[in-house]
Parts: sequence; C-alpha cells; structure tokens
Amino acid sequence: MLENLKANNQAWARAKKQVDPGFFSRLVNQQSPEYLWIGCADSRVPANEIVGLDPGEMFVHRNVANLTPPSDANYLSVLQYAVEVLKVKHVLVVGHYGCGGVRAAVENTSHGLIDHWLSPIRDLAHEKRHELGVIGDEQARLDRLCELNVIRGVRNVASNPFITSAWDRGDDIAVHGWVYSLANGLVSDLNVSVRSRDEFAELFLD
Ligand code: ZN
Repeated sequence: MLENLKANNQAWARAKKQVDPGFFSRLVNQQSPEYLWIGCADSRVPANEIVGLDPGEMFVHRNVANLTPPSDANYLSVLQYAVEVLKVKHVLVVGHYGCGGVRAAVENTSHGLIDHWLSPIRDLAHEKRHELGVIGDEQARLDRLCELNVIRGVRNVASNPFITSAWDRGDDIAVHGWVYSLANGLVSDLNVSVRSRDEFAELFLD
C-alpha cells in the first residue's frame, strides 16, 4: 500500500542527508522556526515549498479557508505555542485566490458541517456587501473576498491576547497578510503588517 509514497520518502531522506549529513540529527534536538504560517488546507498551497523553507524553519497551521476563529482551540493552541514557546518573529496569514472554501461560504447551496466552519466568511461578505457589490465580475469579487478574509485574519491574530501580551512583554513579533496566486505561484503582500498596538490601532481602529 502506498509504495510510491514510501519510496519517495526514502529518496527524500537520502537526498537531504547527502546535501547535509547533520540535517536530521540537528532537528531531533530542537526546532526554532522564526515563522508561523496560517494558511488554507488546499493541496495546491504547500506552505514550506512556496517560500523555500526547510523542515524546522516554519511552524504551520492549515485549515479550510485559513480561518482564525477566536474560539477555535486548535488554532489558539498553535498560536500560543508559536508565540510563547517557539517565540516566532512573524505570523503570516496566507490566503489564496480561487479558494474553494471562500467560494462555498457565499454559495446558495448547502455543504453540511463545513457551512458552520465557513460562517465567518459569510458574515464578512455581508459586512462588506457594498464594497463587493460594485465588482461586476464574479471571479474578481471572490478574489477580493479572499483578500478581505486575510485582512480579517490579520485583525483577529493581531488583537489576540497571546500577541498583545507578547508586545507588552517587549517581544518583537509582526503579523502579516499575504495572498497566494495558484495561477503563477507568487504571493502578494496585502500591506497590512502589524508590529504593535499602535500599528493595530492605526490600521483597524479608525
Ligand atoms: Zn483555500
């Protein structure tokens, strides 16, 4: 069963050791990633690969439509561990254009449990209905909603007590919002980076 994957794994481990014989023994002892990636579970958005990072270099949390619900224990546990134990310097909230989760959130059909998970996006689309309503093209409208979902994610993360407490302790930690394009493999920075309570207020509270 799955012989192709096992063979791939052996080849991968061999190649890593060839380039750097100490690679795995170093990682056994500790991880000290500088980045936390919060991205979509979509198979076309492989976090480490997109930004050229090795194992050990990025802590990764993925779920459908890269959501950051303030009541989700999974996301909160990842965030707390990344901020308080690993002491990452950057949290990247990364959405992607053509996100099936974002599309499903605003479709008028029922998808079961996932509709519950996606409800923050539905609420966001309603909140931003005037901005979205003037975009005639459906794909462009969904793409804008993908961006708005990332920006809302940055707002959620940057107002989370794990992050604000880290700032109060003097920790150097920034939250960023990116969108990845499946069409060309490139990320765009949405320029909503937040490094302090002041920057948060400037960006989100006026
Ligand atoms: Zn997606």
